[in-house]
Amino acid sequence: MAASRDAPDSGGSPPRVAVVGAGISGLTAASRLARGGCAVTVYETGRGPGGRTSTRRAGPDGAGWQFDHGAQYFSAKDPAFRAIVEDWHADGLVAEWTGTFGALDAATGTFVPEETQTKERWVGTPSMNAVAKGLARRSGISLVTSRRVTSFEGGPGVGDGSWTVVHRSSAPSARTDANGDPVPEPPRRDARFVAVVAADKQAASDRSVRVYGEDPPIASAAAPAVREGMRASGQTPSFALMLAVKKKTGAGDVPLFEFQGATVAGDDVVAWIADDSSKPGRPTGAPDADVTCWVAQSTPGYAARRVKAMATVPGTAPHQALLNEVAEEMTEALLGLAAKCAGRGAGEAEKRVEYEIAHVAAHRWGAAFPDDGAVAAAAASGKGCLLDAERRVVGCGDFCVSPKVEGAALSGAAAAARVAELIAETPAASL
Ligand SMILES: Cc1cc2nc3c(=O)[nH]c(=O)nc-3n(C[C@H](O)[C@H](O)[C@H](O)COP(=O)(O)OP(=O)(O)OC[C@H]3O[C@@H](n4cnc5c(N)ncnc54)[C@H](O)[C@@H]3O)c2cc1C
Repeated sequence: MAASRDAPDSGGSPPRVAVVGAGISGLTAASRLARGGCAVTVYETGRGPGGRTSTRRAGPDGAGWQFDHGAQYFSAKDPAFRAIVEDWHADGLVAEWTGTFGALDAATGTFVPEETQTKERWVGTPSMNAVAKGLARRSGISLVTSRRVTSFEGGPGVGDGSWTVVHRSSAPSARTDANGDPVPEPPRRDARFVAVVAADKQAASDRSVRVYGEDPPIASAAAPAVREGMRASGQTPSFALMLAVKKKTGAGDVPLFEFQGATVAGDDVVAWIADDSSKPGRPTGAPDADVTCWVAQSTPGYAARRVKAMATVPGTAPHQALLNEVAEEMTEALLGLAAKCAGRGAGEAEKRVEYEIAHVAAHRWGAAFPDDGAVAAAAASGKGCLLDAERRVVGCGDFCVSPKVEGAALSGAAAAARVAELIAETPAASL
């Protein structure tokens, strides 16, 4: 195949592969490629790995308040993903989250627990981003954080056929011009990659044009099948509320909710509630054991309304104003549900939930879930990832399989397999 004819000469050293995005898909791809003998560089625009399996820490110094404000837990249905979870488990990166789970009826405040636990719920431990952190530490992987990949240069048919990755700092620039306006730092270039893996649909998103005035990075790779697959359709936003509540002195032993996780039916604002402090390995609320960290996830309708009413860019004052309003509205909705729930247990007298709010914040996920159309379009390839073998460009992410941690990991594994095939088809002398 063409990929083997003009593959770059890496002079006997391990083949170099670039991965854009340190979420579960990118790091699953990276860890498999590294295990197969590649030298993998993973670029992440965020400050750390994890993507949508992120964890936020908050509170006074030393406070162990933390919130998994993206993925809440994951289940493993596909045998291939079960094997991946076993590997993570053996590495101490995940544990099973047990407790009382069920459905909360917003109209009546009635909580109906699952009769029997219907599925395993896995979480990263001691935080959801532990999986990504653990994968990024594996041998053969270099993680480059706070760097946004802006384009790719070279590639098959140009020079030695290798790819160069162009990336810029995603932190605010410290350099200013004579007027005091920030001057972007010059981009850096890393050369001699045999193949590139774009592990996020965002690599093809027009958001790049709106926010940075630049084409999205995948545009420069001239790999239309990958680009079009990533752009096949949209994504839905979501808001996460992070709320630390402290029991009032002298209050009875009544938590905000008497469950660890519930899907909410019939509420306009809140769709899911989780007691994050109940997840395994979490800090025990130190220095104040009376503090419990709750996460609530918005309904798709509420998120769409709020995002439509005010499109904002993270890091700006309007964005913070939006988050403050959302935090207020979601807190009111959550506390309203808690009040309805109180004393709804069979045969129980009405209870008063007495607490004070120790911390509250909201996070916007502009692209929380790929919509069904996106998943269907990418899945139609049947490969679990998007591939342009001639260009040695692969696209992967949850949008290729299913909008979950499981889908992301399976897509990353598929991407690694495709890259390994490309490399295997390349004569050793030209790698
Ligand atoms: C609020 C919420 C709740 C969820 N709940 C669950 C749940 O309970 N169970 C479940 O299984 N799943 C859940 N999910 C979905 C799950 O989190 C995702 O399916 C999965 O984490 C996606 O992984 P990914 O690698 O495909 O993408 P991501 O995690 O989004 O990773 C992509 C990474 O690429 C980086 N990136 C993009 N462009 C560039 C660039 N140009 N340069 C450098 N880096 C770049 C991004 O910063 C990001 O870190 C939830 C998601 C959200 C948002």
